[in-house]
Parts: sequence; structure tokens; C-alpha cells
Amino acid sequence: MKYDIVVIGSGMSGLMASIYLAEQGLNIAVVSRGDPICSVSSGCIDIAGTGDNTLDSITNFPHEHPYHKVGKKGIFESIQYFKDLMEEHGNSYSGDIKKNRTILTPIGKHRITSLVPLTMKHADISKDEIFHIISFKGIKDFFPSYVKGIFQNTDISIFDAGTHTTMGIAAKMDNDNFLSSFIEWIKSQKIKQKKVGLPAVLGITKSPWILKKLELETGKFFFEIPTLPPSVPGIRLYRRLKGIAGGKGVSFYGSADISDFKSEKNKIQYITIKKPGRPDYIDAKAFILATGSFVSGGLFLDKNIFKETVFNLPVYAPIDEELFNQDFFKLGHPIEKSGIIIDKDFKAKESGYNNLFIAGSILAHSETMKFQCGHGMAISTGVAAAKDAQEYIR
Ligand SMILES: Cc1cc2nc3c(=O)[nH]c(=O)nc-3n(C[C@H](O)[C@H](O)[C@H](O)COP(=O)(O)OP(=O)(O)OC[C@H]3O[C@@H](n4cnc5c(N)ncnc54)[C@H](O)[C@@H]3O)c2cc1C
Repeated sequence: MKYDIVVIGSGMSGLMASIYLAEQGLNIAVVSRGDPICSVSSGCIDIAGTGDNTLDSITNFPHEHPYHKVGKKGIFESIQYFKDLMEEHGNSYSGDIKKNRTILTPIGKHRITSLVPLTMKHADISKDEIFHIISFKGIKDFFPSYVKGIFQNTDISIFDAGTHTTMGIAAKMDNDNFLSSFIEWIKSQKIKQKKVGLPAVLGITKSPWILKKLELETGKFFFEIPTLPPSVPGIRLYRRLKGIAGGKGVSFYGSADISDFKSEKNKIQYITIKKPGRPDYIDAKAFILATGSFVSGGLFLDKNIFKETVFNLPVYAPIDEELFNQDFFKLGHPIEKSGIIIDKDFKAKESGYNNLFIAGSILAHSETMKFQCGHGMAISTGVAAAKDAQEYIR
């Protein structure tokens, strides 16, 4: 099958690249092995969590950071593009791209982020604010007593949803009868506070509508508190983006095991997807590699091997720093710097392939945890790589 551009990886960077390119009228395919990190994320868009002002703090990022290849204007425009896209498709995001905000976590701490789904619009809780918490009987991954430990004037009500998982409760919320009985129960609680926080379970497919109905019928402001994975807002975001891409004509090859590729004269010709019968050969004029870092399997590391898993590209690794003898959960661990080094056109340096572009957390020096720039960097490098790939095939 011949495409204009094939994007490998269905994470935030790959999906944004594919949507952008499909909107330019190009024939696009996304080939991916599995679900991305987006589906376990909070659904909030971190841009740069190291200061109050997102774009200003990027100035202080190391000069090798991929954000500098996109530039502040490019970062702003691509994240605005994401925001407009979500609004157009009924899943608006709230917030100012240039600013950070702090939202509540399930243990009552604060977390810095920039854009939040509408269901978290009221989640910026100040230290002295009084609000109400609704929790669910037997729920996993949500800890209202911890929240009360910090916000001592908080009252808690507990609803029996008949299921204990966040995904299970969220699926029930999509049912009109269940939602009506939940709303009736809320009314019966005679909640005094104007703001009501609850774990992120306000539906999987129609959360903006559920939020509106709750607010209209109870007269309260509700805010979701993102929970540990599996994360309902992350799953919503992933499904929405995938749906938008599909709606724009992007073809998807899921559960794809890329076993091989063919190159000729500095160009990737096609990739091979292993299949029980005949393999699929997917050829394109250009490819975008957006396979993520170690968690998603774009990079692989053990004591003897350090590699990029599709094209075996050269991987930058801070080998002079002792990778294995450090605490892996420490912020700023050197392994976070590893990845693919790119040139100004988002091509892998030293790869020798002219039609291969790289985006997202597989990029060297991205250090997404240290700089809290996860989805923001994925969106902006995804769109930037897409523009360069489009320019190339033109
Ligand atoms: C637990 C966790 C929570 C996070 N929460 C947030 C958050 O709330 N907000 C935020 O802004 N950031 C968050 N981040 C960071 C952010 O999610 C990521 O930095 C960003 O989404 C990465 O997107 P990506 O497109 O680069 O890659 P990924 O999301 O990693 O996607 C890579 C894709 O490539 C596919 N793939 C990998 N290898 C292959 C292969 N060999 N062949 C074919 N396909 C392959 C994978 O299956 C996957 O679909 C979080 C990170 C983690 C680890």
C-alpha cells in the first residue's frame, strides 16, 4: 500500500502529526504496536513545568532541548492548533498556553500543568479553599482521606456505584439512567459547598455533556481529580485524537509488529509488518518515527544493548554517566537524555535517511519528566516534524 507519509507510533506526537498532514490533503497511515503513554496520562497538557510562565521557562532549557528546534512561536501555534482541534470536536481544553496552573491530585497534593480538560477547569484549589469531595464505595486509586488530611474542612460523601474501578464507574456514567440516579443522590446529600471534586470518572465518551448536566441540575461546580493509571481522562484524550485522525481519512495499522524495512539510496522505501499469513509492506514517500521512549518501546536498553527499535538508528546515550548505578526514579536521571539526535529539519543526524523524520519523546535531550513538558513537547515536535516531512515530499 502506498502512502504519502507513514507515521510510526500512535502517541501524542504521532497522532498530531497525522492529523496535521491529513488536513493538508495527504494520504497518511499510522502504524503502531500498542496504546501510547497518553492513555495512562492525566489528560492534562504539560508544556514546561519549571516556572509560572511556560514559554518563558523554555528559554532556560539546555540548548540541545528539542523545544529549541521548534521555537516559541512554533510551540505556541502547535499547541493552539491542538486546543482548537479539541474545541472543534467537543472536548475543549481550558487554560492559557503561556501559563502554568496547579491542580489537585488524588492524594491532596498539587500538580503543575498548563491546559486541562473542561472537567478539570475548577481543579485549581487554593490552600484555604473549602470544597466537597464525592468518592465511590471501594474505589481504587483515589484517596479522599489523604485529601481531607490536607484540606481539613473538606466534607466527603460516598456513592455506591456498584463497581470499584475508575473505568467501570466512568462507563456507567455514560448511561443516562445511571447518571440521573447519581444526580438525584447528589441532591439528597444537601452539599453546602459550591465546588465539588470527584475522581475522574465523568464518563468515557461524553464527559463535557455529563459535566454540563451535573452543573445545571445541582447548581454546583464540579471538577475531576485525575487518578492513577488506567486514567479515564488520558483514555478519553487518546480515543478522541484517534477518532479525529480517522475522521480525516488517516488509516490505522494497530498491534503492528514491524519486522523489517527496506531502504535504497538514502531513502526508506517501505516497512514490513509481520502477519501470520503474508506480511504487509507499507511504502511511503516519507516516514515519521514517533515511537516514544523506553516505556513505549521506541528505545530499548539492557546492560548490553542500547537501540532504537524500528530502524536501528544511532541512539545518543549519556554513557559517561553511570546509567545503571543510579536511582531510576530520581528526576533528572541521565537516561532521560537518551534518544535520537536530530538536525534542524527533524531528521535523525547520522542516519543517512533523507525521508525519515523524528518526533516526540524519542528525541534526545527531551527529559520530559525533569522539565514537565510531556504532551506539550510531543504536540509541538509532532507538528514540526509533520511540516518538514510535508515540505520534503513537496
Ligand atoms: C505514567 C506517565 C504519565 C504521564 N502523564 C502525563 C500528563 O499527564 N501530561 C503530560 O503532558 N505528559 C505526561 N506524561 C508524558 C507524556 O505522556 C509523554 O511524554 C508523551 O505523551 C509522549 O508521546 P509520544 O508520542 O512521544 O510517545 P508515546 O506516547 O510513548 O507513543 C509511542 C507509540 O509508539 C508505539 N511504538 C513503540 N515502539 C514501536 C515499534 N517498534 N513499532 C511500532 N510502534 C511502536 C507505541 O505503541 C505507542 O503507540 C506522562 C508520562 C508517563 C510515563
